[in-house]
Amino acid sequence: MPAKLIGSLAYKNLRYTKNHPLRIPRVSLLLEVLHALELLEKEELVEGRFAGWEELTSFHEWDYLVALEECDRCQCVKGDYRERFNIGTYENPISPAMWKGSLLATGSSVQAVELFTQGFRAFNPAGGMHHAYPSRANGFCFLNDPGVALQELLKGGFKSILYVDLDAHHCDGVQDFFYEDDRVFVFSIHQSPEYAFPFKKGYLHETGEGRGKGYNLNLPLPPGVNDSEFLFLIERILPALKSAIKPEVYVLQLGTDALKEDYLSKFNLSNWGFLKAFDLIRDVLGEGIYLGGGGYHPIALVRAWLLVWCRLSNRDIPTFLNDKAKQILLSVDFEEFDEDVDRSYMFERLLDTPNEGEVRREIVSIAEKALSLLF
Ligand SMILES: [Zn+2]
Repeated sequence: MPAKLIGSLAYKNLRYTKNHPLRIPRVSLLLEVLHALELLEKEELVEGRFAGWEELTSFHEWDYLVALEECDRCQCVKGDYRERFNIGTYENPISPAMWKGSLLATGSSVQAVELFTQGFRAFNPAGGMHHAYPSRANGFCFLNDPGVALQELLKGGFKSILYVDLDAHHCDGVQDFFYEDDRVFVFSIHQSPEYAFPFKKGYLHETGEGRGKGYNLNLPLPPGVNDSEFLFLIERILPALKSAIKPEVYVLQLGTDALKEDYLSKFNLSNWGFLKAFDLIRDVLGEGIYLGGGGYHPIALVRAWLLVWCRLSNRDIPTFLNDKAKQILLSVDFEEFDEDVDRSYMFERLLDTPNEGEVRREIVSIAEKALSLLF
């Protein structure tokens, strides 16, 4: 099963506004570093494409899409669109990323589905924008590409699909859309909404409704989750989940904001733990469809997704960054919030030392409660 990375250097120009947490284009940076380290062959890279209207409307409302297109044309907020669609805000600003960047990321997630069904291991790092609602932007997300990808799988005849979300934030847009659907099981591990975005959704008691009752599982966690705790939860839950629903296919959202360097989340994973989680999921579920997600420390993010790519493409992980890759990362215009923290290791090596530790009683109890909710 050969690996394919769906990407584009076009993201370099499809940016969010200055001062936005996503202002630094992440996918083009990943591609540059992969090239610098000679970890990506020409035939492994698939140029992303825009999503088509028919693909988009399987998830999104027509008038919302028209509004995004109109605002993109003038790069301004029209009429009452801010109130109606939550666009043109600090969180979801008007920028080239809003429409064209999202169209490209969403088309690329559809490509990932197509490549998977053709027998490839496909990774779309621009995907995973899990907060968007059918007619409302939310949490930096305008188009819900995981939702569109899941709809494509349903159109393709899959009847039991698992969606696994490792992002530090709950996947409210995806959960909401499939909440009454027993064909898509949504499983998310995230910071508890008690203290983290999206604040209202992501609790353990949200288990689906109607036909979808029992097809939604949330693990809302306290701050400070370490590698041991994160891996414990996956080991404890995923095999049971697999035997309960017997998925024919799964989509994995690989947001990197659970990493310890990320300033928008309070989890403490090393990239070793993140990679180990990825390995564990593939051990249990086999090959899936791989999407990106959140991640606001661009350098930590590139390092983590580079590890994922090495695994997918059966490459050894280089111990050190070469000079070329190091220069690219050093030239990223990103300032650490906490100047006292020494992050120099990020520019030398790729794989971090594990951040293992005690598995808190609270974490064990969440796992037990979650297991009791599985059919
Ligand atoms: Zn996130």
